[in-house]
Amino acid sequence: MDLEQRLVDNFIRYVKTPSQSDASVKTVPSTQGQMDMALILKKELEDLGFENIVLDEHAILTAVLKGNCEGDTIGFVSHLDTVDVSLSPEVKPQILKFTGEDVLLNKDLDIKISVAQHPELNHYKDMDIIFTDGTSVLGADNKAAMANIMTAFEYIIKNNLPHGDLHVAFVPDEETGLKGSKLLTRERFNVDYAYTIDSCRLGEIVYETFNAGAASLKIKGVSAHPMSAKGVLVNPLLVAHDFMNMFDREQTPEFTDKKDGYWWFVGCKSDPLYCTLDMHIRDFDKDNYKRRKDYIKECVQTLKLMHPKAQIELEMEDIYANIANNVSKDDKPVAMLYEAADDLGIKPITIAMRGGTDGSALSPAGIVTPNYFTGAHNFHSYCEFLPIPSFVKSLKMTLRLIEKACGR
Ligand SMILES: [Zn+2]
Repeated sequence: MDLEQRLVDNFIRYVKTPSQSDASVKTVPSTQGQMDMALILKKELEDLGFENIVLDEHAILTAVLKGNCEGDTIGFVSHLDTVDVSLSPEVKPQILKFTGEDVLLNKDLDIKISVAQHPELNHYKDMDIIFTDGTSVLGADNKAAMANIMTAFEYIIKNNLPHGDLHVAFVPDEETGLKGSKLLTRERFNVDYAYTIDSCRLGEIVYETFNAGAASLKIKGVSAHPMSAKGVLVNPLLVAHDFMNMFDREQTPEFTDKKDGYWWFVGCKSDPLYCTLDMHIRDFDKDNYKRRKDYIKECVQTLKLMHPKAQIELEMEDIYANIANNVSKDDKPVAMLYEAADDLGIKPITIAMRGGTDGSALSPAGIVTPNYFTGAHNFHSYCEFLPIPSFVKSLKMTLRLIEKACGR
């Protein structure tokens, strides 16, 4: 089998099945497209001879390929959904050779990628690259992983290559808050460790993500007609304003980068009587993350003293956690990524990801799951593109990890 051709064909096929998730829908999966995608993969896993294939009502698909040699039990995880950023759910991929000139994605609509705005293209001169037609994301996030995993499985089976027990999990609704991976239990996905392939350019390795939480402040003020409001009215919107003033304006996404944490006020709904204020809490450091949550609680206490007639309630929840809370660079699951890259002559680029991946939900649940590159650029944009040589290297990483897990 021509590995590269098969990889690209699988990818093109998967992206042509629309599977956008929908953040406004509370059920998992949030869309039928993700279940359709899972059904396609289920059939393919059956044809490849996988065992214990389970597709549940949440569109979570898990399966096992029994090992033919001693080794660690490893898992691979891909999310089924593509992000909804108000672009078309239909993906029409095209393969173009990058000549160094701006890339015309869509002649009819006159949509281009300009090299000046996307100088990263210059790394891929004279290479074949998979682009969008300018009306959608490409969906390399995360169908590059899907194609990578399925092609790797087919390749090791057809060539009877040595491997330990291999588990796979396809999960929905990553883009809407890691909802699928949060429903995946250790009992069902019983691996020593696992990998997502959900990072971008060639070489990227991620084992650090944010610790993430959300807080919601619910304020009930006291309403009164303005003619008799003096000393009576408590305006919940101004109570919320006082609360926001207690936070350092420089600890916000717009003033922070690298490994800084932040608070982020993301929404406020108010009428004369009620106000709900929503915020995000992010920090790489576990202790700092806790301090941020404690600070919010202290601010609420102060606010209650400032506004004794208002009713103020705080709700706070943890959303996901830093993978590195459970693993370090020297531990086997992460160290193997660096070794595999080294074996393949790939220069590793360590990224502390200012966000979360499925591994940020799985790792706290006891399934340590670092992340590596797909090879693509510009996730969540119509400028998303996937250079085929980088994509092939991402597949080679997967094959090498499978070998290494059984000590080769
Ligand atoms: Zn992704």
